[in-house]
Amino acid sequence: MEDAKNVYSNSEIKVTYHPGKCIHSGKCYQGLSEVFRSSVIPWVKLDAAESDHIIEQIRKCPSGALQFERLGSLSEVK
Ligand code: SF4
Repeated sequence: MEDAKNVYSNSEIKVTYHPGKCIHSGKCYQGLSEVFRSSVIPWVKLDAAESDHIIEQIRKCPSGALQFERLGSLSEVK
């Protein structure tokens, strides 16, 4: 059975969080605590930083629990 996942989006990106994959390394909320908040629900606040900055932080997630997709006409970046 596929993990439940949480989806967040702003006008530029869609961010997906898979709780079952998270290894709780803390990298996301230590690196960008305005967006990835450890004790607030919803814990992902996408309007708190530039989308490029958020993407940079998501790329550092060691487990793949956080993933992103660019929306709209911007080219896809992996
Ligand atoms: S960086 Fe990834 S693995 Fe680490 S706490 Fe955040 S979502 Fe979980």
